[in-house]
Amino acid sequence: MQETDIDWADMVWNPVTGCSKGCVWCYANKMARRLAGRFGYPKAPDHFKPTWHEDEFHKPFPTGKPKIIFVTSMGDIFDKFANKEWSKKILQVIRDTPKHKFVILTKQPWNILKFWPRHEIRELPSNLWLGVSVTNQRDRKYISWLQRFHYDGNWKRIVSFEPLLGPVRPNLRNIKWVIIGAESGNQTTKTVPKKQWIQGIVLRAQLRHKPIYMKDNLADSWGEDLRKEFP
Ligand code: SF4
Repeated sequence: MQETDIDWADMVWNPVTGCSKGCVWCYANKMARRLAGRFGYPKAPDHFKPTWHEDEFHKPFPTGKPKIIFVTSMGDIFDKFANKEWSKKILQVIRDTPKHKFVILTKQPWNILKFWPRHEIRELPSNLWLGVSVTNQRDRKYISWLQRFHYDGNWKRIVSFEPLLGPVRPNLRNIKWVIIGAESGNQTTKTVPKKQWIQGIVLRAQLRHKPIYMKDNLADSWGEDLRKEFP
């Protein structure tokens, strides 16, 4: 658990690291390669294999003001090679810590129903902000998976369009928060989002009165005041 410079979150908590999706732009994979064989990360070339970090899991949460905590910024707890028990333990902690908001993002939303038993997800806790990462039109199907959940409770469905790599025409029905961000890093191959890609998402979010959080790295592409709204 540590403070983060991710602008929409206060802290990151990584009891699970790693993911098998193999996205070429993955920042977490690059970081894991640097940390391979240290701090509980497997040695290369398995540095990004889904891995449980018992020490990190037991770290105490901050006292004082409520925080927005990004769970598993360094991987995906719903990865097909992750252990189901890990995400169950994390869900229990979220239930037991109502003071803080916990954000979980995945690109494998179909595994949520496989990993969390139905009696657990029937009433997800209100401090859970569970969402999908979408980078282009092809990823739009992840949103549909999230929308298939018809469970009670005040938990929030969210969508993070980050890194935005192309135009997307999302259906934002039942979505409570929209994050938009650009690819990070200094690589020459980096995709810089076009203003009309951002506008396409913003217009759809506005139509449904959804709060929008634009990350600072959109400033040049957007060219206007960045919206920094929370649900
Ligand atoms: S889904 Fe996320 S964590 Fe997994 S490889 Fe892609 S960017 Fe990295």
